[in-house]
Amino acid sequence: MGEFEAVIGLEVHCQLATKSKIFCACPTTGTAMNQSVCPICTGHPGTLPTLNAEAVALAVKAGLALGMRIELRSIFARKNYFYPDLPKGYQISQHDKPLCESGSLRIETKQGVKDVRIQRIHMEEDAGKNMHFVGYSLVDLNRAGVPLIEIVSEPDMRSADEAGAYLRELHQLVTFLGISDGNLQEGNFRCDANVSVRRPGEPFGVRVEIKNVNSFRYVEKAIEYEIARHIRCLQSGDTIHMETRGYDAQKDETYVMRSKASVDDYRFFVEPDLMPLVLEQAWVDAIHIPELPQAMKERWVRDFGISHYDAQVLAQTKRRSAFFEQAARHGNTKIVANLISGEILRLMSLAGCEIDEAHITCQDIIDAASLVAADTVSHTGIKLVLAEVWTHGGPLEPWVDKLGVRQVSDQGFLDTLVAEVCQENPGQVAEFRAGKEKLLGFFVGHVMKKSGGKAHPQKVGEAVKAYMQRGLG
Ligand SMILES: [Zn+2]
Repeated sequence: MGEFEAVIGLEVHCQLATKSKIFCACPTTGTAMNQSVCPICTGHPGTLPTLNAEAVALAVKAGLALGMRIELRSIFARKNYFYPDLPKGYQISQHDKPLCESGSLRIETKQGVKDVRIQRIHMEEDAGKNMHFVGYSLVDLNRAGVPLIEIVSEPDMRSADEAGAYLRELHQLVTFLGISDGNLQEGNFRCDANVSVRRPGEPFGVRVEIKNVNSFRYVEKAIEYEIARHIRCLQSGDTIHMETRGYDAQKDETYVMRSKASVDDYRFFVEPDLMPLVLEQAWVDAIHIPELPQAMKERWVRDFGISHYDAQVLAQTKRRSAFFEQAARHGNTKIVANLISGEILRLMSLAGCEIDEAHITCQDIIDAASLVAADTVSHTGIKLVLAEVWTHGGPLEPWVDKLGVRQVSDQGFLDTLVAEVCQENPGQVAEFRAGKEKLLGFFVGHVMKKSGGKAHPQKVGEAVKAYMQRGLG
């Protein structure tokens, strides 16, 4: 970066988890192409929109969770533009009187904790979807009229890392609260990034908007690419144009889509078919906000004594966090956290599924943790057991015996093995007694091997030391 600083603001479009569309009764999911359409969402003359109350409740929930001011009177507006996926010729959105204003979201990066300010949340309807083929295009209007919120941040982020952290945190928030299913592949949570570069303290530079990137990793890479491109332009004296750019993941570069439309081009005016949206404070107050992911993670670190990293990993999805919470409440918390964020996470990514989709149960994890805590099974041994239970199901204990990983701590048995190994390696014994104590690992390794991996390594170490002492005495 050198003498330059990046300035990044994000606009996230998030589909609200309602059963029907925002202004009509068409279902939001589960139909074949162009089947979920009616005269209202396609804007036939003479039809009138009716606002979906559930969509308003979810939008308010998002605002409350982000600490925003809920405007009791907001206004819908028409945003006019022509595009094949928009048969009405306009999109109903909110313009200068949005539903929620002024909040913040706490993010965490390697650089530390930071609060990113949120400027506004407004409600709007989605457009249809164009699909392009060689020589022709098709339009699917199932999405037209699906309820969205647009969450607009202030330009508070200074790196691609911070932008990625913001997106992940926001995604977690809306999925935990059931505001959205957050499905990235379906475009139910998508982001436009505004990026510019300046010397610190100077006014904002010319910004470009990167549109329609639907993976967190790609957003980060697109932003990194843009920052580097802007710096090159500034250093060589080239002009940066205000424009909209797309991201080509295969080439890992951005490209020009169009020069940016200004707000005036959309000829916003108040939507004449809808009354102002007026809410009662009591209705807003009745919307329940459960514990937020950020607070949950902080509680885990405080009460369960786990690391911030583990908390982040374990809280990644709502199902995983519920699973962990239950196991941690009834088992050895630290070991439970270790097992899930280590071996179980590995098994999950191999299988490409979530923790509650395999055969393993909460009780299995609790049992595994207590076996490790009691030194009955080693950390290495328990991984083998968990892998079997993951694939075939529990209970756990029979697998411990079947795999032969129960650790042996019996003193007589260990002493016999230690004596055997020492008698087989007299040279090393002499060296050890002469002070070469790093040979301890050599003896422990041989005893472990002799025991078929069943001996308790720490106890073996103690038995070796005792043997050496006795020999000297
Ligand atoms: Zn409809």
